Amino acid sequence: MGTQTYRARLILYSSVLMLFLIGTLVYSYSYTRSIILEESERNLTHTVRLLQSQIESERNELLRYAGIVSDDLRIQEYMFVVVRVGSDNEPLLKLYERLFGWLPIDRRVIISDKGKVLVGAQYQDLAGWVSKHRDRVSEKVFYFEGELGLELVAVAPIIYQGEQLGLMAVSRTLNRAWLQQKRQNSGGHVFIEKDGKITISTLGDTSRSDFEINDGRLHLGDDTYRVNPMELPGLDESMPHMWYGVSETGIVQTLHKHGQFTLMLVVIGGLAIFAVGLMIFRNFNRPLSRLITLTEEITEGRLPVMVKSEAQNEIDVLANKFADMLQALREKQTEIDRVHKQLEKSAITDTLTGLYNRRHLQEIFPKLRSQAQRDWRCLSVILCDLDFFKKINDQYGHLAGDHCLVHFSKLLKQHSRSNDFLYRIGGEEFVILSICKDTDGSVAIADKLRMACADSPVVYRGKNIPVTVSCGVSFSTPDDPHDTALQRLLSRADKALYQAKAEGRNRVCVYQHSDEVEAPPSAQQA
Ligand code: GH3
Ligand code: MG
Ligand code: MG
Repeated sequence: MGTQTYRARLILYSSVLMLFLIGTLVYSYSYTRSIILEESERNLTHTVRLLQSQIESERNELLRYAGIVSDDLRIQEYMFVVVRVGSDNEPLLKLYERLFGWLPIDRRVIISDKGKVLVGAQYQDLAGWVSKHRDRVSEKVFYFEGELGLELVAVAPIIYQGEQLGLMAVSRTLNRAWLQQKRQNSGGHVFIEKDGKITISTLGDTSRSDFEINDGRLHLGDDTYRVNPMELPGLDESMPHMWYGVSETGIVQTLHKHGQFTLMLVVIGGLAIFAVGLMIFRNFNRPLSRLITLTEEITEGRLPVMVKSEAQNEIDVLANKFADMLQALREKQTEIDRVHKQLEKSAITDTLTGLYNRRHLQEIFPKLRSQAQRDWRCLSVILCDLDFFKKINDQYGHLAGDHCLVHFSKLLKQHSRSNDFLYRIGGEEFVILSICKDTDGSVAIADKLRMACADSPVVYRGKNIPVTVSCGVSFSTPDDPHDTALQRLLSRADKALYQAKAEGRNRVCVYQHSDEVEAPPSAQQA
């Protein structure tokens, strides 16, 4: 539960951090985007205004040039001579060229008040138009659409002694070079458009391209221009229009790059948060989960081996302490197991002789009986009792008696079979419990033991103590109709032993099922 909560919290915190990062970056992106777009819009408006004022000053300049010419007395006098006297206009042309040929204008025309072209006859279109409209040319500067395209024309009357003799017109052609000069380093482009087609632009070969504005934007090939019209006084509806536009492609590319950079930051940030989360998970959650699992194993009674690691942080230290604790617990457990085994062994062992005691006999007997029945075998009990042991105690002392008991236990071990169970069940009473094929083997062992005992007196403190033993043997065969509980077998053996004692001791008697106990022929006292 705790682990889940911890993991859930980790995921929650990482998600919040991630959302915060994404939010911040998206906000920064959109904010920057709007600033860039606003700035470009402002730039566009500003540049258009600048261009408008430049053209305005150009109008004034032209007007000034026209004024310089018309105000010149020599021009006025020559004009008078040509217009009123009727002389040739060649000298007027030469005078003009000499005096004002330097003026930075494209075309100039001087016409008489009667409409005759005196200077600039080669510019028929301009001269014709000025002549035609000489009475109506109210404004001093106007736009004229002639052979060369759009022109800015300034007109000034030539007056001599209070009489208007004619008009002086100077023009500047709004050609590509002029447009280039106007746009200079503005970064944008100037377009002149008429009837939905581009006539001239600073973009190169765009003449006759469609000029369609959608939402303030002009699409030209792959590029999109954000365009604004230039409001020029005197340029009426029927004439071409002038526009200024800035390519949006550059801005879009900049924004795209900015967007990609933002996305990259989101990805890197996300990966970093993920990596940190993973690191926290590895460094904290995993060892903690391992410790929790170990604790559960310990609770279930297991003591698993835990490998210690190099302590790099507090959790490592905790895990190492845990490993130490587990090691200490294992050592304690081993000690407990050892003592427990010892206790178990001593609980079933006779301390004087090292043989099994009555308790072990009671524990093992049911298993042996089951095994014997399973294997269709006999179960035999040889009950041995040292003869006149009380007398030995009395005559040689209790310690000598103990010595005799140990001596007899050794004989028991020597003369029994490997799968016999040997017991001291009372003071000087011993039992051999065994599974056997037939009854003869056990009787033979009992007899061998009896003879060995009688033949090897106990030597104690330089004295020979003769010891004899009497044995009672009982069996339970697989087809035994009677209940063959331990007590019954022991009491049968006891009956046989009683008979051996009664018959004079140092002999082996076998319990007979007919309740008749008879001694084997070889078991007679030697
Ligand atoms: P019997 O031939 O009829 O068996 O004669 P017995 O003297 O052996 O008979 P009884 O059973 O009356 O005597 C057993 C004696 O064994 C009594 C007791 O003093 C002695 N005894 C019991 N336990 C021990 C012991 O641990 N050490 C010694 N030294 N003597 C013991
Ligand atoms: Mg006895
Ligand atoms: Mg005895």
